[in-house]
Amino acid sequence: MTKIIFATNNQHKLSEIKHLLGDSFELLSLKDVNIYQDIPEDNPTLEENALFKAKYINKVTRMNVFADDTGLEIDQLNGRPGVHSARFAGDGKDFKANMEKALILMEGKQNRKAKFRTVIALIIDNREYLFEGFINGTILNTPRGTEGFGYDPIFLPDGEEKSFAEMSLSEKSRISHRAIAFNKLKEFLSGYAIHNNSQE
Ligand code: IMP
Repeated sequence: MTKIIFATNNQHKLSEIKHLLGDSFELLSLKDVNIYQDIPEDNPTLEENALFKAKYINKVTRMNVFADDTGLEIDQLNGRPGVHSARFAGDGKDFKANMEKALILMEGKQNRKAKFRTVIALIIDNREYLFEGFINGTILNTPRGTEGFGYDPIFLPDGEEKSFAEMSLSEKSRISHRAIAFNKLKEFLSGYAIHNNSQE
């Protein structure tokens, strides 16, 4: 079975993606390959951040790897917080403070369009690939709901009546930026596995 590293130590994310990818790949976490340090995420774009992480792990381990990065891009704020979503209100990575900062900056603004965007960088057999998933929506005036995390309570996906934080995980996973990006990765990898197997 082809081994592939998912550049995360978030066990929740890991088991979600393990479930999604099925059993054609053996998925390893950073801990499984003895990498414990924080990899810098200070590049100017989601693409560069994801690629930097994947390249770093690939260099150290010489193994196949993928890494993801996600951001909330608000039109009125010229795409901010974007790549800075986790630390928008400071290094504490405080979800509530981040959300409050976004709400204050959006106070009284008419254009409330925003999107969540996930980028995955994959390095497999020394080749680089990028996968993107996004969902358009609007920034609510006040938070709604208690599910999820991050900016979920202030994000209303287009065509939906519930904010992300009013949806169950399975409802959110049917439409989310992350699910779209990871489904693209899954499709690519299953095609890749079949292709490779047929050559054996
Ligand atoms: P990460 O790249 O998945 O670590 O995401 C970076 C930051 O974006 C997180 O710390 C959250 O603030 C925000 N974020 C990512 N995904 C979501 C989501 O699905 N809902 C709300 N906020 C998110």
